This record gives sequence, C-alpha cells and structure tokens, in this order.
Amino acid sequence: MNSQDWASAAACKAQAPDELFVKGAAQNRAKQLCQGCPVRTECLAEALDNRIEWGVWGGLTERERRALLRRRPNVTSWRALLEAAREEHVRVGGQAATA
Ligand code: SF4
Repeated sequence: MNSQDWASAAACKAQAPDELFVKGAAQNRAKQLCQGCPVRTECLAEALDNRIEWGVWGGLTERERRALLRRRPNVTSWRALLEAAREEHVRVGGQAATA
C-alpha cells in the first residue's frame, strides 16, 4: 500500500475527525478504534515521520508518540522501521504456526 492510499482503508474514515482529536479519557476510546485497524502501521508511521503533535494516530496519543520519539531519536524512517517489524512479526508468526 503506498503512502497515499492507506487512509482509504482506515477504520476511522467514517468517524468525525473530532473523535480522534480528543483529550484525557476520551483518548482511550479513540485508541480502541485503532486496535483492529488494517492500516495502523501506516497511520502511526505517518504521524511519527511527520512529527504530528495532536490526536490519536496508529493507536498512540501525542504524549505516547513524543515518548517514543525521545526513546529512538536516531530513527530516520518510522515507516521503514515499522513495516520491517510487521514483516518480521508475520514471518515469525507464520513459522510458529507451521512448527
Ligand atoms: S490507526 Fe486509528 S487513527 Fe489511524 S487510521 Fe486506523 S483507526 Fe484511524
């Protein structure tokens, strides 16, 4: 999926934008929507690579994303990192299922 079309598969595409740009306890409800989203990796990468500082993206709040960016200051492409991690997860998961 290229970087332009992932949003069309978003689990939240029918939501009002205000529902993802909330504060406090409402963020936990917004994050639940992300749990089953098929483009969670792309969404989170978009927010991290572009240093988006508001709203819930990819299941993380702005505060959680800031903490992640502080922990990993040398990452130059979150998209590449997260996609590699997802592929590894699928590969290892596939091996475990056939073992
Ligand atoms: S991960 Fe969450 S915020 Fe991102 S597209 Fe999916 S539902 Fe929307």
